[in-house]
Amino acid sequence: MPRSSRRSRRPPRRAAQPPAPVAGRGPVPKTRDELDAMAAAGDVLAACLEMLAEEAREGVSTLELDAAAEEFIRARGGVPSFKGYHGFPGSICPSVNEQVVHAIPGPYRLRSGDILSIDAGVTLVGWVADSARTLPIGAVTAEAARLIMVTEAALERGIAACRLGARVGDIGHAVQAEVEAAGFSVVRSLVGHGVGRSMHEEPQVPNFGQAGSGPALEEGVVVAIEPMVNAGGHEVVMAPDGWTISTKDGSLSAHSEHTVAVTAAGPRVLTLGRRTPAAAAAS
Ligand code: MG
Ligand code: MG
Repeated sequence: MPRSSRRSRRPPRRAAQPPAPVAGRGPVPKTRDELDAMAAAGDVLAACLEMLAEEAREGVSTLELDAAAEEFIRARGGVPSFKGYHGFPGSICPSVNEQVVHAIPGPYRLRSGDILSIDAGVTLVGWVADSARTLPIGAVTAEAARLIMVTEAALERGIAACRLGARVGDIGHAVQAEVEAAGFSVVRSLVGHGVGRSMHEEPQVPNFGQAGSGPALEEGVVVAIEPMVNAGGHEVVMAPDGWTISTKDGSLSAHSEHTVAVTAAGPRVLTLGRRTPAAAAAS
């Protein structure tokens, strides 16, 4: 789940108010053991998103997907991090087509040709993992398929930039370059974020910016990198429900996210998923 950027002149109302970070505290690096604990949460989340990718097809409602996600996460000892977050009613944010992020699960039934972004978080033993992916439902247009592909490529570029000694601006710069080279735009008013004990920690991780700028990426820093990519312009609007963010021009939007740790061995993606004994035993 992205947070709203303080750079935004008109921040979204409710989603705009994650807990204020302690001034001057900066990113809190995690130890190796803590990263392993976060990866355990990430494994549950990856498996959950894999399950949802199987379930998400024409005729299925986003509310049904939400229920399946909550059951899946709780059955593995986790808590859906989004549920109740600033009053958010769901366990996932299922954002369809022109919806960018933060959509509320509901009665809408998926149709062939839709693109569905599923954003979810898992808290396991007090550690949070945050991840999202965008799925084509049935047969989608070539443009929609390209949008998803570019969003995933931008995430990969952002992850590759997440290296010891680099800066947060290097991530945004890499994401923006990939997206804009494809003729799409990155959302400005919502950003990725540090993650750990809380879903939203320092630093903010914009999907745009200048290489070499921003906070240094030190060993053990964990960030949720999450390109939100619009086929049209970058402007977004909030629905009257106080949550759902959509493109202002009605163009399609895709979202892809991983929780990534900076390590001496390179970026460690904590939400990639692997068959751990715990996950395997529970499935
Ligand atoms: Mg997320
Ligand atoms: Mg996030």
